[in-house]
Amino acid sequence: RSAHVIVVGGGFGGATAARYLKRGDPSLKVTLIEPATTFYTCPFSNLYLAGLRRFEQQGHGFEDLRAAGIEVIHDRATAVDSQAKTLSLSKGQTLSYDKLLLSPGIDFRWNTLEGYDEAAALLAPHAWKAGEQTRLLKRQLDAMPNGGTFIMVAPENPFRCPPGPYERASMVAHYFKQNKPKSKILILDAKDSFSKQGLFQDGWKHVYGDMIEWVPFSKDGKVTRVDAAKLSVETEFGEIHKADVLNVIPPQKAGTIAEQAGVTNASGWVPIDPHTFESEQVKDIYVVGDATIASPMPKSGFSANTQAKLAAAAIINALNGKPVPQATLSNTCYSLIAPDYGISVGHLYAFADDKLAEASGGVSPKEASPAFRKQEAQYGEAWYAAISRDIWG
Ligand code: FAD
Repeated sequence: RSAHVIVVGGGFGGATAARYLKRGDPSLKVTLIEPATTFYTCPFSNLYLAGLRRFEQQGHGFEDLRAAGIEVIHDRATAVDSQAKTLSLSKGQTLSYDKLLLSPGIDFRWNTLEGYDEAAALLAPHAWKAGEQTRLLKRQLDAMPNGGTFIMVAPENPFRCPPGPYERASMVAHYFKQNKPKSKILILDAKDSFSKQGLFQDGWKHVYGDMIEWVPFSKDGKVTRVDAAKLSVETEFGEIHKADVLNVIPPQKAGTIAEQAGVTNASGWVPIDPHTFESEQVKDIYVVGDATIASPMPKSGFSANTQAKLAAAAIINALNGKPVPQATLSNTCYSLIAPDYGISVGHLYAFADDKLAEASGGVSPKEASPAFRKQEAQYGEAWYAAISRDIWG
């Protein structure tokens, strides 16, 4: 019998893993479990908010993965029995695996931020998983009057996509500048610093003047209570801010199936062996992407994609009695400040004292010509096209 590898999650990490498992060893039986028939990406969803992309351009189907010989089941995994090595699905099916790979992304810690639960997210969307939430936020921005205030509540580390909130502020600013120029953006942040901060702040001043205000933790930026019905938030020191559109990015944790499988620790995230991305806690379960503790790699689609390739190779080697593969991991995060104004941060990650460490890399130069910023915007677009094709075909 050929070995059976089950992959849970058809997003950046899971769909990559399924493809590279089958490509690396065509004799493997590979099953991919994903409830959605079309996966909508968070990457470039901020451009949709800006009016620079159609929502449909964010969607990717699973036909090409099926054509590659992967069985795709559109259902939700509900339980893992790591002793019996079985996975249960919501519609009642139970599947046996030799190796299980989880890439379930994030779930939210509802109510950790007082007043912010699933019902509140229907009034004050997070839009931190792409789909209906993204469309809701776009509709609210479209309906907002000129001169309104968009408030974003940004979370503490770690969270999905460190530069994401600040790219979102940029893209909303672009939309306002074109359509509602008297409007304001207020970012209330639970942190004192953020990814590519200098580049973002220079870009904001240059392109948007004083439209975007960022309030760090130390200036009472930390929101402690949300009143979604009133679209208002309260900070640590009791200040109340009232929004016309309120975007709350809440605290996060690994997707709940990881918790259920017993691979998360007290932090809510998944400790892994970075050489293989096998769980430190449960044998034969591999975890990649946002759910993992893979610091210093950020929680990005690019990271999930490279981690999945390493985990696929590690699974194939383990099943064939071969040694752990030697790998260097990488990540680049492009962000758009305006349509012709891109910035990036990229690193290679290698092993130092058996731990993942930044080997080389850096951020875009502080001083750069408009032509350079435009080129980075184009690299970002090419990155999206290339990685989407690599993953979903
Ligand atoms: P996902 O891609 O979220 O995939 C998880 C999948 O698992 C989902 O499809 C879900 O349905 C499925 N799933 C969960 N639980 C189960 C279950 N029990 N059973 C079956 N299926 C399940 N990254 C970049 O690299 N570049 C960017 O420009 C970028 N921009 C971003 C912008 C925004 C606004 C946001 C929010 C994120 C951005 N990211 C970006 C980050 C990127 O979206 C994530 O890092 C990436 O999606 C992580 O991949 P993943 O496989 O861990 O999770």
